Amino acid sequence: MKIMSINAGSSSLKFSLFNMDNEEVIASGLFERIGIDQSKYKIKYGDEQISQEIDLPDHAVAVSILLDKLIDLGIIKSLEEIEGIGHRVVSGADVYGQSVPITDKVINDLIAFKDFAPLHNPAHVLGIEAFKKVLPKIPMVAVFDTAFHQTMDEISYLYPVPYRWYKEYKVRKYGFHGTSHRYIALTLANELNRQDLKIISCHLGNGGSITAIKDGKCIDTSMGFTPLSGIMMGTRSGDVDPSIIPFIMEKEGKNASEVIDDLNKKSGFLGLSEYSSDSRDIEDGALEGKANCILAEEKFVRTVVNYIASYYVLLGGCDVLAFTAGIGENSINTRMKIVEKLACLGFQLDVEANNVRGQLQKISSKDSSSMIYVVPTNEELMIARDTLEIINR
Ligand code: ADP
Repeated sequence: MKIMSINAGSSSLKFSLFNMDNEEVIASGLFERIGIDQSKYKIKYGDEQISQEIDLPDHAVAVSILLDKLIDLGIIKSLEEIEGIGHRVVSGADVYGQSVPITDKVINDLIAFKDFAPLHNPAHVLGIEAFKKVLPKIPMVAVFDTAFHQTMDEISYLYPVPYRWYKEYKVRKYGFHGTSHRYIALTLANELNRQDLKIISCHLGNGGSITAIKDGKCIDTSMGFTPLSGIMMGTRSGDVDPSIIPFIMEKEGKNASEVIDDLNKKSGFLGLSEYSSDSRDIEDGALEGKANCILAEEKFVRTVVNYIASYYVLLGGCDVLAFTAGIGENSINTRMKIVEKLACLGFQLDVEANNVRGQLQKISSKDSSSMIYVVPTNEELMIARDTLEIINR
């Protein structure tokens, strides 16, 4: 059985086609610059890869080309082989606590939630409409980044601000990366054959968030009303004092959204190091002794450790500390620095085992108070699994 997982952006469309019998990717690829000049696509299948510059005036054209190519390249024989399509959706607000079949009501809700994900939700709707146009009969499922976090209680999700803001405008913590954190929780429960785990899941990529998970449910998470809060990230500041915003507005003659843009796109590793948003460059810079890279690295580690420590207390201990996403899966050095700072809680790495990139592995020593794991995330597979489960109901 074949299921396609889709991540539609405003000018891009990423896909993975899974054979769900063995959960392997049959083909994957990216359509870029949709609706702009020099649009192009690339498709990977087996050991092959093709790419082409081609006019992509809108998402529906991209979807038509994608489906034609899947057949032309012999990846599938007919479109009927694709039995379901799962769409990644950034915000399900506080309405969707799990994945759902896509209906007109769901599409209308996604449009209604656009204030909570102004760049993403309208783009997901473009992707959904494009598939509806080209493949009207194939069932589709929406998988929300926010859904996993809907189990937070109000002490976690409310901000200590006028309660009216929540009641009237739904100002609250929503959290993001939920599909990734859920995948980590499921993978660990499976690996350890235990459902009753206290997990601190560290999704450290270009965007990053940390989630406290108990018995498979999210208790708290570091991202908030938007993905700007929490730990320091590639270009996002993470938590800062909001009074900085009017202060910089006045100093630099900017409006609020320009300053928010600075906090989203010019802060984090990039802002502090004045060098790069990419943790590999920062690591290399730090090794060469560049002071701003050392500072950025130390600040990143500190913000991560602070969240881990606070979730350790919230959970009343920790069975597994998990590292995932680009930095979490690949940066041996960053994991080491983080765990070193957690020694007072009894966390201890097995240095040899930590010498690993991108594979599921226990990296804690025998004497560590908690297990520590590297768990490669797979949001696309999680989307495909949910889609399969829902269409089989
Ligand atoms: P996102 O999905 O949020 O765009 P990723 O999960 O791909 O981001 O993570 C990107 C980050 O992971 C970058 O900072 C990059 O430097 C880091 N990263 C990727 N590969 C490695 C590696 N081999 N070693 C260290 N860091 C890595």
